[in-house]
Amino acid sequence: MKIVAATTNRGKVREFQEVLGELGFEIVPMQDMGLDLEIEETGSTFEENALIKARAVSLMCACPVIADDSGLCVDALDGAPGLYSARFAGEDATDADRNKKLIEMMQGKTNRHAEYIASLAFIFPDGREITAEGRIDGEIMTEEHGSGGFGYDPLFFCNKIQKCFGVATPEEKNAVSHRGQALQKLCEILKKEVE
Ligand code: IMP
Repeated sequence: MKIVAATTNRGKVREFQEVLGELGFEIVPMQDMGLDLEIEETGSTFEENALIKARAVSLMCACPVIADDSGLCVDALDGAPGLYSARFAGEDATDADRNKKLIEMMQGKTNRHAEYIASLAFIFPDGREITAEGRIDGEIMTEEHGSGGFGYDPLFFCNKIQKCFGVATPEEKNAVSHRGQALQKLCEILKKEVE
């Protein structure tokens, strides 16, 4: 069964596929369905933003839709970049620009604790909605390590696996990550639906 992903982020699509593919789902990015929308993230929580994105795409297609809103919350930066993780270094910035800015802002900080948070929203073609959240703790490293994952992963040392997500395998990351946990919760619900 096809699930349309309400995102243009290839890293998220890949992780959706890695986990939901095991249940036989095929994740199709919204652009591949001809849906090239700019969705304004006007919510004040990750969950609200995930629902805004999923609802916007669900209105335009007959397939189930999945959306994710996520971010990195750094204690020493009062929770920033948080909801603004994608826009942390400006609208057209790259992952490299955001990581450079984070390294600079963390210079001299002794408390390096951070948390990744992900909220998923899933909408069935009949309009029923499911949401699920995941969180994972870590420390912000002083320089980038590896090129695995995406986004801030080369700077995120995951306490649970004692490894930077930039050097972790996809399986290692998905087993513990914020998105991996939220996807597992969603899988449990979807398994019951397809039985
Ligand atoms: P969103 O599209 O508004 O949800 O933006 C989420 C942003 O948070 C991404 O563009 C990344 O910068 C960051 N982010 C969220 N999850 C991850 C992850 O698993 N690894 C690295 N960065 C992430």
